[in-house]
Amino acid sequence: MNGREHRLFIVTASVVPLVGTAAAMVLLWNRVFGPGDLVALAVMYTVAGIGISTGYHRLLAHRSFRTYRPVHDALAVAGTIAGQGPAITWVAHHRRHHRVADRDGDPHSPYFQGERTRTAVLRGLWHAHLGWLLDERLTSDPVRYCPDLVRDRHLRWISRHFVSLLLAGLAAPAVLGFLLTGGPAGAATGFVWGGLVRLFLLNHTTYAVNSIGHVYGRRRFSTADESRNIGWLAIPTFGDSFHNNHHAFPRAAGHGMRWYEADLSGLFILALARANLAWDVITIDRARQDARAAGLVRAGSGRHAPLTPPVPLAERPRSREPDPGDAGDIE
Ligand SMILES: [Zn+2]
Ligand SMILES: [Zn+2]
Repeated sequence: MNGREHRLFIVTASVVPLVGTAAAMVLLWNRVFGPGDLVALAVMYTVAGIGISTGYHRLLAHRSFRTYRPVHDALAVAGTIAGQGPAITWVAHHRRHHRVADRDGDPHSPYFQGERTRTAVLRGLWHAHLGWLLDERLTSDPVRYCPDLVRDRHLRWISRHFVSLLLAGLAAPAVLGFLLTGGPAGAATGFVWGGLVRLFLLNHTTYAVNSIGHVYGRRRFSTADESRNIGWLAIPTFGDSFHNNHHAFPRAAGHGMRWYEADLSGLFILALARANLAWDVITIDRARQDARAAGLVRAGSGRHAPLTPPVPLAERPRSREPDPGDAGDIE
């Protein structure tokens, strides 16, 4: 898919759900809404949300755990129906983001303007949220950023057929609505709520992690970027909004690091592990978290060396992207 086709896809996958959500509001105003619609919305939001958070993000982009092939492929398909593009493209952009977060070359940093005026902040937020996806020159070479995925025959197939899979993901709530209500009206409203409204809500909560999650929120770890933890987005993003925790430990399977940091995706991975469907789950013990929060990194066996104090963005020299051979892609 070239840049122009990708932009056309993103525009369609943004505008159609927006129109569908407006239609849903009209239906709601006229009290055309039943329990079947709520079930279709909840089920489809959960499937696609786990697909993005557990599948695309933690499994494919960061290799936070390993699993059997059918589970691996099912998670990739579940992520595909979220309408955020082919798995391989999504992962290439995301790994590039981690390599150069909030520096030159980051595909979706809200600081690309380099200024801190109110207008620049708003333009930066828009760019990091959705604007970056509308740039047809946007390319993150999959061979450079995710050769492991490019080599995977199943993922190549899933990525190539992403539009068909997305359409199947829109048909599923219509079928569900029909089965729950026994009529074509239920199928139509199931499609609107479980298909279009679900796309609208999930896409914007995911995109908010890239935009708001690099501007507003709390920082537990002094990472070299501007990532933030946003508690109020935890449930709708399945835990991905603990974005500062994630930038500090990109390969950790769990993004919530305290009992009160609700991380549904992390719990889902633990449940998979309990059921012997996942293994090599990457966890970070509390001592390592505390050392990182205190500005220390592990250097050798048990010794700790201080981190270089982070330089504020405004004072940071403009840097070149690192070589593809560096180890910064998934950790
Ligand atoms: Zn980030
Ligand atoms: Zn990530």
